[in-house]
Amino acid sequence: MIEKSKEQKVLIFIFGGTGDLAQRKLYPSLFNLYKKGFLKENFAVIGTARRPWTNEHYQQVIRNSISGMEDTAKQATEFSRHFYYQSHNVDDSEHYVTLKELADQLDIKYGIDGNRLFYLAMSPKFFGTICKNLRGEKVTSDNGYNRVVIEKPFGHDLSSAQSLNDDIAKYFPENSIYRIDHYLGKEMDQNILAVRFGNNIFRALWNNRYIDNIQITLSESLGVEERAGYYETAGALRDMVQNHILQIVSLLTMNAPVTFTDEDIRNEKINALKALQVYTPKEVAENFVRGQYDENGDLKAYRQEASVDPKSLTETFVAGKLHINNMDFSGVPIYIRTGKRLATKATRIDIVFKNMPNNIFSDTEELMPNVLSFNVDANPGMELTLNTKKVSQGGYALENRTLKYTHDEATQAITPEAYEKLILDTIKGDTTNFVHAQEVFYSWKFVDAIRKAWDEQAITPEELTNYISNSMGPKASDDLLARDGNKWIFNP
Ligand code: NAD
Repeated sequence: MIEKSKEQKVLIFIFGGTGDLAQRKLYPSLFNLYKKGFLKENFAVIGTARRPWTNEHYQQVIRNSISGMEDTAKQATEFSRHFYYQSHNVDDSEHYVTLKELADQLDIKYGIDGNRLFYLAMSPKFFGTICKNLRGEKVTSDNGYNRVVIEKPFGHDLSSAQSLNDDIAKYFPENSIYRIDHYLGKEMDQNILAVRFGNNIFRALWNNRYIDNIQITLSESLGVEERAGYYETAGALRDMVQNHILQIVSLLTMNAPVTFTDEDIRNEKINALKALQVYTPKEVAENFVRGQYDENGDLKAYRQEASVDPKSLTETFVAGKLHINNMDFSGVPIYIRTGKRLATKATRIDIVFKNMPNNIFSDTEELMPNVLSFNVDANPGMELTLNTKKVSQGGYALENRTLKYTHDEATQAITPEAYEKLILDTIKGDTTNFVHAQEVFYSWKFVDAIRKAWDEQAITPEELTNYISNSMGPKASDDLLARDGNKWIFNP
């Protein structure tokens, strides 16, 4: 039975309601929240986009996008009846007047008490206009909350991120702006704080006295697919490092928050990102590697893909060494890599601890460093490697063993998808797993220095360090670690 307190009252506006994100992620997530009783009677959704759809057609689109998830056809139909469509050109302020009328009617019809969530699932170039009109035409309510959910990318460099933020912040205060980074909705990323701040053994070890290096891999097996138009303007550095990877870096290196609240957690994440060493062009050359996937059998090279410039210099792979200059992490290299068309799809974090200062065992026994690993995506779980005694009759030999836990099938079955978790957080008003403006700014500051150094290098497409599709990236990425006497622990 669903207890009453679980139910949320909310009117959700989806700008870009006909789009890919809405249909693939948002509607299925809302349906899961409906099935679980978080959304029940007191909610409605207004989808807006340019196409002239009717409510009936929109509701059919909703049913299509949740097809296969419903317990009964009646359940899907009842859910879809909460959805309303309004054809809307976001530049036209007249439309916001109609939107307000519809919103006020639905508020009364569904007993929503004025709570409004504006989900901007469309190009960021419209965000400023939408926010201005939402306030100007009073689509926001006076008696409940007004929150705005912003999709990535948040700018394409520091200055565009700042001006985008200025455009939004004029109309919505920081604590009502929810900048989505869906990696923050993943269970194992959220687990980083539980492991770090819930276990005394790690409190003692989580610093430059005991950690040798940190490795973060976000690998994708797919190529650029249909996203070439956007990807050509972004590349792996902007698409993956600025947001997802630096967010993981901040969770791994932040200081303990005073309390486990969104404000304290985000303050510490901001401080971690503030401590990122911003590189000079010389340091970029020493610490960063870029590459582009090359053909392999039937797999095309990036430059052969549809809508990609045959002379493109866009990187589909980045590896780098970061430094966080704070008390606990100064001197600990943080190796990161991400790319498309790699050997496997995975998000993996390896914390490599320093080796024993002295090997008291025989010369033939090699002591391996302890490694704590988080498997974030496929088979979510953790691993810890230890040196142990090998079972034997005589003598004393060592062997490296792994303590491992993986979420079992039952746990995986009840694990909410990242978007579902994050949407519920927006409705409940919990900003913990959303990116604060200052985090965005420090991240761009770091990334801009790399981008600028690369853009100033006159290289030809052939000089980009290419890598074979289905490998783990160019050799230069392995060399980056080898120079420090290290190697990638995750080697699928
Ligand atoms: P999309 O192109 O599929 O959808 C865009 C939507 O905006 C459509 O509904 C379109 O009708 C509407 N639109 C465009 N111009 C309009 C106008 N002038 N007035 C009113 N409506 C207009 O894009 P998408 O893939 O759904 O992505 C939406 C946003 O989410 C983008 O910012 C994208 O970067 C971000 N995002 C998408 C994904 C994804 O998986 N699709 C993942 C992460 C972030």
